[in-house]
Amino acid sequence: MERLRTLTLNNTFDEHFIRLVEEESGQQISKCYQCGNCSASCNYTFVYDYPVNQIMRLIQLGQKAAVLSSRSIWLCAACTACSTRCPCNIEVTRVMEALRVMSLREGIISIKDVEVFYEEFLKSVKTFGRVFETGLLPIVNLRTGRLTNDMELAPKVFKARKLHLLPSIIKGRKEVAAIFDRFESWQHQKMAHKG
Ligand code: SF4
Ligand code: SF4
Repeated sequence: MERLRTLTLNNTFDEHFIRLVEEESGQQISKCYQCGNCSASCNYTFVYDYPVNQIMRLIQLGQKAAVLSSRSIWLCAACTACSTRCPCNIEVTRVMEALRVMSLREGIISIKDVEVFYEEFLKSVKTFGRVFETGLLPIVNLRTGRLTNDMELAPKVFKARKLHLLPSIIKGRKEVAAIFDRFESWQHQKMAHKG
């Protein structure tokens, strides 16, 4: 199966998209001169459809649809290796993060299972103050219809005491929930302002 994709550039140059990525990531995309350091540092290129330097190039070319529907932006682990090694001091990780937010907003996310994982992960953090892994896995499996996914690992991780049967409720849980509430209300205000 062909994994890396080639793209025929066409007349879809979207300048507004470039400005929006710059605004939302706080990074100047035109500074990228395609040295390739980010891709050389990235441990996940083997599952990407476009290596991260190509994502940067596609943004420069205003290829909104290709970028926002890419698998790469969702498989990025936000490890920051690319940002650390960029000779132009571009925070590439922040660019990838901004692209994920935009992809969600536009409803063109390419990997639905990842969207479910993000939603449930954040719900868990909001509820318990930190993620409750033991509760997260079955819910994600149920929602994605892959009931036994990774279940064979359960005995090993329980034995190694890496997972707990009950959630640990942290101090400051309410404060963490308040951060989510503030963000959600800011988002609603922003949408209302735009609409
Ligand atoms: S490391 Fe920086 S300059 Fe080099 S290709 Fe990646 S983003 Fe562009
Ligand atoms: S932050 Fe994402 S794109 Fe950058 S090196 Fe890590 S996994 Fe790759």
